[in-house]
Amino acid sequence: MAEGEYYEYVVLGAGVSGLGFAKRVSERGKSVLVLEKEAVVGGLSRSIHYKGFYLDFCAHRFHTKNKALLDEILTLPGLEMHRHIKKSRNFMFGKYIKYPFEVQDLLRAMPLSLSIPAGFSFLWNMIAKRFKDKNKLRSFEDWFSYIYGYKLYEVMARNYTAKVWRHDPREISADWADQRLQGEDLVRLLQRIIKKIVTLDFRSYDLADDSLAPDGGPFYYPLRGIQEMPDALSRAAMGRGARILTSARVLRVDTENRIVFYEHEGRQVSAHYGELISTIPLHMYYRLQDRRDPAIEKHLAGLQYMDIIFVYLFLDVPRVSNDHWLYFPDQDIIFNRAVEFSNWSPEMCPKGKTSICFDITSFPQSPEWKMKDEALAERTIIDAARVGYIKKEHVIDSLVVRVTHAYPFYDLDYKEKLDSIVRFLETDHEHLLGRTGIFRYNNSDNSIEMGFELAEKLLAGNAASAHTYTVKQVSY
Ligand SMILES: Cc1cc2nc3c(=O)[nH]c(=O)nc-3n(C[C@H](O)[C@H](O)[C@H](O)COP(=O)(O)OP(=O)(O)OC[C@H]3O[C@@H](n4cnc5c(N)ncnc54)[C@H](O)[C@@H]3O)c2cc1C
Repeated sequence: MAEGEYYEYVVLGAGVSGLGFAKRVSERGKSVLVLEKEAVVGGLSRSIHYKGFYLDFCAHRFHTKNKALLDEILTLPGLEMHRHIKKSRNFMFGKYIKYPFEVQDLLRAMPLSLSIPAGFSFLWNMIAKRFKDKNKLRSFEDWFSYIYGYKLYEVMARNYTAKVWRHDPREISADWADQRLQGEDLVRLLQRIIKKIVTLDFRSYDLADDSLAPDGGPFYYPLRGIQEMPDALSRAAMGRGARILTSARVLRVDTENRIVFYEHEGRQVSAHYGELISTIPLHMYYRLQDRRDPAIEKHLAGLQYMDIIFVYLFLDVPRVSNDHWLYFPDQDIIFNRAVEFSNWSPEMCPKGKTSICFDITSFPQSPEWKMKDEALAERTIIDAARVGYIKKEHVIDSLVVRVTHAYPFYDLDYKEKLDSIVRFLETDHEHLLGRTGIFRYNNSDNSIEMGFELAEKLLAGNAASAHTYTVKQVSY
């Protein structure tokens, strides 16, 4: 074992939260070591370079309402981000319907037997919900029906939610919806749709309008995959003295003596730390640190991350659609979403060719996780051709990539389990951070913000408040 060095901060994981943290503390002249198990930085926000194609995990657009963060990212040296207006459609009722929904599309696609009751249910619900207690909403179904009415929930959300999470929406916590679907924005969108119907206004929406959909509107994307963003964060941190090691295997964390043991380039090394920041999955961090508690192990056993399978198809045509995203709620279509990379940046694909990422969410016990790569690609091609999205004869190659710990899964009692795990693992000198590290359904902008925020708290010597946040108290 090589002689240990001392760092004021050691970070486990070089996803964007860990890199954001490292950037902030290194800018203030602090010593920081980041240990990443993969060969590249970026975590979930990384890209693959395959036979001339650049591929993200699904695709990662960067968007944020935090102007200071946006400016900081857009001015990172060596990073060129371009502004896009989100284009996406849902495959519903056998047709591709624009999202945000447009009146003519909805009227054309949705049978009147559904649209009339859904419209009435929405209007009735606007009155009825004044008499309901929002604090009693427990499940995703409760939440969605409370905001939009039960009928609209059935039409718009039940299938897709059940498909993505592989659980009945009654078994999924309302917190997920609360974090991801900002109710008021969607209500305003639906009010606009109803107004358009009533006034027979068939003009298209101005998609540059930020308020159309909670996550709609403009976003930023680099030239060759989202990887360029974590790479730029990493360069900025290293430029200020941060040490960021990839292909580093963490072996053990001795919390009593504040030492992390790891393997890098065939050598076993130890590093003493002032503060340790873990952005890695909770179960992994629990196993690496040395304290044990059977009650925490029981909670960990009941807390699950969801995995994801990406099926990439490569096609011998320049483009198959103009969309950034397509969503497929039907249960008999194997994939949830499709992303065509040539619409994100022309440099993502060789000239005259395009590539599409189809994602399939999964648990280790799901049948799709056990399917062979060839069978997954075959089934994806069949389904994508069946819905008129691609032509089978255009497919020249395929690639299947499986990623574990992609999504925190919020069952009905995840919060109690998580709170006790967080309270156990966070101490005066060990802190959890990021989407994966704190089991928080974050986008990348929130993950970076969390890294900055934790850095500011620790730099201010405010360890207590840094370690006492729980999931509900993190304001993202
Ligand atoms: C399919 C998908 C699509 C998404 N789309 C978007 C989008 O369009 N826009 C957006 O803003 N966000 C998107 N996100 C969310 C975004 O990816 C995350 O918010 C962000 O990347 C999380 O960063 P993080 O640092 O918190 O976690 P992670 O990226 O999970 O970082 C954790 C790091 O720890 C490393 N690690 C794990 N175990 C160890 C170990 N034992 N030792 C050392 N290192 C270890 C991992 O390799 C990883 O690099 C998407 C996520 C997914 C899954």
